Amino acid sequence: MDSKEFRQEGHRLIDWIAEYLDHADRFPVLSQVRPGEIRNALPDHPPSGGEPFAAIMDDFEQVILPGVTHWNHPRFFAYFPANNSAPSILGELLSAGLGVNAMLWQTSPAATELEQQVMAWLGELIGLPGGFQGSIQDTASTATLCALLCAREKATGFAFNARGPAALDPGRPLRIYCSREAHSSVIKGARIAGFGDENIVTIDVDGARAMDPDDLARKIEADRDAGRRPCCVVATVGTTSTTAIDPLAQIGPVARQHDLWLHVDAALAGSAAILPEKRWILDGIEHADSFVFNPHKWLFVNFDCSAFFVRDPGHLERVMAIDPAYLQTDRDDQVTNFRDWGIQLGRRFRALKVWFVLRSYGSARLREMLAGHIALAGEFAGWLEAAPDWEVMAPVPLNTVCFRYHPTGRNLDEELNAINKGIMDRVNAAGRIYLTHTVLDGRFALRLAVGQTGTQRRHVVEAWEELRRQAASA
Ligand code: PLP
Repeated sequence: MDSKEFRQEGHRLIDWIAEYLDHADRFPVLSQVRPGEIRNALPDHPPSGGEPFAAIMDDFEQVILPGVTHWNHPRFFAYFPANNSAPSILGELLSAGLGVNAMLWQTSPAATELEQQVMAWLGELIGLPGGFQGSIQDTASTATLCALLCAREKATGFAFNARGPAALDPGRPLRIYCSREAHSSVIKGARIAGFGDENIVTIDVDGARAMDPDDLARKIEADRDAGRRPCCVVATVGTTSTTAIDPLAQIGPVARQHDLWLHVDAALAGSAAILPEKRWILDGIEHADSFVFNPHKWLFVNFDCSAFFVRDPGHLERVMAIDPAYLQTDRDDQVTNFRDWGIQLGRRFRALKVWFVLRSYGSARLREMLAGHIALAGEFAGWLEAAPDWEVMAPVPLNTVCFRYHPTGRNLDEELNAINKGIMDRVNAAGRIYLTHTVLDGRFALRLAVGQTGTQRRHVVEAWEELRRQAASA
C-alpha cells in the first residue's frame, strides 16, 4: 500500500468508522453467530499474494462484522462499559501511525513526559492527594499484579525476587486480604505472584456488600497469632457485581497499623470521582500504596488504558528493574524510564489518546456525561422499585443496577433464578439490548450498567420495555 492508496483507504475507513459510530444501533448489540461460524468462513491458509484493500474491507463487512458484539452500541448494558470516543480513536490512530515504543525516555521523550502529565491530570481530576505518581498500564489486572509484586517484595525485603519461593518459610505463608466481592484479577494476580489461592483471605462484607473493616482486623490478627505473614490488603471501590464501595477510611488505618501494602482497585468507579458529589468513594485513598482505575471503562478512552498510581515509584522500580546494558542510556539518572514501572518492556504511546480526550471534552463535559449515566441508572432503579413485580437487589451508588423479576406468589429462589436467566437469554437473543448477570447470595441478578458514550434516556427506556416484554412471557 503506497501513500496514495493509504490516504484513499484511510479516508474511507474514517468515513466507515464515523458512520458506524453514528449508527451502531443498526446491528444486533450481541453477535448472534454460532461458535465456529466465523472461523469456518475464513480460508484455511494464508494468502500467498497480496489482495486489494477493498476486498479485505468487503470481507470485513461480510464475514467479520456479523461476529462482532457492539460495545459501542447505545443499548450495550452488559458487564461494565468499555466506552470510547472520536478523539480517543484519533489518538489511537495517531499512536499507531507514529509506532512509538515508549519503553525509555529516550525512545520518545514526548511519550514519557506526556504520560507523566496526563497521569497528573487524571489524578487531579479524581481528587487524588499529592504524592502519587502514575503510569499507564494495559489493564487493571496488570496493575493489580504489579501491586501484589510490590507488596510481596516489601514483606520479604526483596528476598522473593532474589531467591524465588525458597525465600518463604512454607509454615509462614504471605497472606492477601480482600472481600469476597473483589474481582477475579486479584486471585489471578496472587497466583502469578506466587502467593497461592489458599493464602487469599476472604473478608466478610456488610449489607451493602462492602468490606467489613472489623472482620479485616480480626483476620489479620488471627493470621499473625497463627504465625502467618499478613502482606497486602486489596480494597475495591466499585465491585464488579454491584459497585459496592469498600470503606477506605476504615480499611486504611488497619493496613497501616499492620504495615501492610494497601492496593485500591477502582477499575470502573474511579472515573466517577471526577464528580464532586461522588468524591466520597475515594475517602481514605491517602492510606493507599497503589491505586488503579480504568479510563478505558468509563472515561471515553478506548480500550486499553489503565491508570496505575503508586505512592513510592522508587519501590516499584526496584521491584521491576532489570538493567541490561542494551537498555541503558546516558540520561538514566535524569529521566523516568517507564520500562521499570510495570511488566511490559515495550509500551504503546497511550497517553496521546488520553490527552486527546481530556482536551477535546474538557473536565466539565466529562462530568456532565458521567453524571448523565448515573442519573439514568438511578431512574431505571426507580422504575423497578415502582413496579410491583420487580426488585432492586443491591444499592445503586453509581451506574449499575442489579435487579430481578419477582412476580407475586413466586418466592422460591431456584424458580426465580430460572425465570430471570430465561428473561436475560431472551432479551439478549432478541438483539436489541445486551445485559449480563451476577449471582448475589445464590440469587440470580440481572445487571444493567449504563456507560456507553451514545446511551441516552430513550435507550434505557427501551431496555425497560424489552425486559417487561420478555418477563411477560416468563
Ligand atoms: N477490577 C474490577 C473491580 C473490575 O470490575 C474489573 C473488570 O470489570 C477488573 C478489575 C479487570 O479489569 P481489566 O479488564 O482492566 O483487567
